Amino acid sequence: MAAITMNNIIKKYGDGFPAVNDVSLDIADGEFMILVGPSGCGKSTLLRMIVGLEDITSGEMLIGGERVNEKAPRDRNLAMVFQNYALYPHLTVYENIAFPLRLQKTSDTEVKERVNQAAELLELTEHLERKPANLSGGQRQRVAMGRAIVRNAQAFLFDEPLSNLDAKLRGQMRTEISRLQKRLGITTVYVTHDQVEAMTLGDRVAVLRKGLLQQVASPRELYENP
Ligand code: ADP
Ligand code: ADP
Repeated sequence: MAAITMNNIIKKYGDGFPAVNDVSLDIADGEFMILVGPSGCGKSTLLRMIVGLEDITSGEMLIGGERVNEKAPRDRNLAMVFQNYALYPHLTVYENIAFPLRLQKTSDTEVKERVNQAAELLELTEHLERKPANLSGGQRQRVAMGRAIVRNAQAFLFDEPLSNLDAKLRGQMRTEISRLQKRLGITTVYVTHDQVEAMTLGDRVAVLRKGLLQQVASPRELYENP
């Protein structure tokens, strides 16, 4: 079963030309899917409809086989990893990762177990008592991912997470995201307008143009058949 299924998704803002125009796409369990295309092609809108931050005009969105059109973001069990990581500056790494569990009133024993497990996976064990200001960009990104892991999110969603970084750091972070995604095996949807990212990061690339899904292919297929 696909992790995320989009059937004939249309999004219209007002009565203009559709921002997303009849997109159908299956994202497999554990797959790293890139959404790429020029500015204004509808990438963010599509991602926001997956998360539930934008209403779908018509069509059907399924997550884990279940229709989610009417579900609020909090009921979709997805994790949007934001560009600025949205960490709490006054909380330690431990408490930042624990945050979703605190909201759910999880017991201290279970919080400890799950945070330590996530920290180990993400190689953050030595940094648990630090504050975000004392972390590198890559470490902050991992804390944000840790927060998603502890609540067993079904998928990671990234919206141009590296676009504010310089070229060197962007390269490092790209490698890191790719490595972690493979290690965690978590379904990932990643929006970018950067061709290099699109061709190096994902298992498959979905190319959007003016709201239309033009092509879905592996980077190799795209390279050989642009
Ligand atoms: P991308 O992420 O590929 O840059 P967007 O999904 O942000 O594209 O935008 C797709 C189209 O929808 C653009 O034409 C944009 O101007 C329009 N759009 C996006 N958000 C809104 C909104 N809240 N209200 C009206 N139009 C919007
Ligand atoms: P409110 O209950 O005040 O409407 P929000 O709509 O901001 O709060 O968020 C409610 C819940 O939805 C959050 O606890 C969070 O789990 C989830 N959520 C909101 N935005 C996102 C997002 N971008 N990615 C994943 N989950 C989100």
